[in-house]
Amino acid sequence: MDDLVVRENLKRIEYNIQNARAKRSSKRDVNVLLATKTVPAERILFAAKELGYRLIGENRVPELLSKYDAVCGETDIHLIGHLQTNKVKSVVGKVSLIESLDSAHLAREIDRVSKSLGVVSDVLVEINIGKEESKGGIMPEDADSFFAELAQFESVRPVGIMTMAPRCDVKSDYNKYFSKTYQIFLDISQKYLYNIIEPVLSMGMSESYEEAVAEGATEIRLGSAVFGSRVYP
Ligand SMILES: *Cc1c(COP(=O)(O)O)cnc(C)c1O
Repeated sequence: MDDLVVRENLKRIEYNIQNARAKRSSKRDVNVLLATKTVPAERILFAAKELGYRLIGENRVPELLSKYDAVCGETDIHLIGHLQTNKVKSVVGKVSLIESLDSAHLAREIDRVSKSLGVVSDVLVEINIGKEESKGGIMPEDADSFFAELAQFESVRPVGIMTMAPRCDVKSDYNKYFSKTYQIFLDISQKYLYNIIEPVLSMGMSESYEEAVAEGATEIRLGSAVFGSRVYP
């Protein structure tokens, strides 16, 4: 896989996004976040500087920190993987959005660290839409009470919802999970995010981004469709 293939992949993806967008009523734009785990800094810089894809997501803190100095000036970094409380102090101030808030305990620590640095941290609440034991996230039925609980943390600002759908063999099953998530998003937006100009709904990955866009995603997170299959060291 070389840089030219990355360019071609993104072209095809943009075309598919426009087709999927035509199937929904929401006129909101769809932001493409590049999920850059295992992708070297040079390739991230190519995507950002040459292709204009500046929004990236890392899911492990050590990897994020190892690339941070090389990419920070050219990219806007989100944390998209599970965050342990003892790593909060390494990411606050470095990432513009923590997409994986999944407990009050974690919110408390993000609040504490953010206060100490004099910043407010934007977060998405991760919803475990498939109620899978193997995944983190707030259960769909607890979303409302969890957002209510977040009001106590002055330095944590919820701006939307993130979900990872279960792996589905039939594409239309993705539509079911994403449309459920969209309903929760509408409900939560109205009740808790009325001060946020453009609330974020982050859902859909390489296998499922067209279904996610059709169901109302405002952000999709793409790794392998852009960079090819990952080889883990
Ligand atoms: C890796 C990752 C993605 C992208 O996955 P692909 O299937 O490679 O597109 C999206 N979201 C999260 C949280 C990830 O860790």
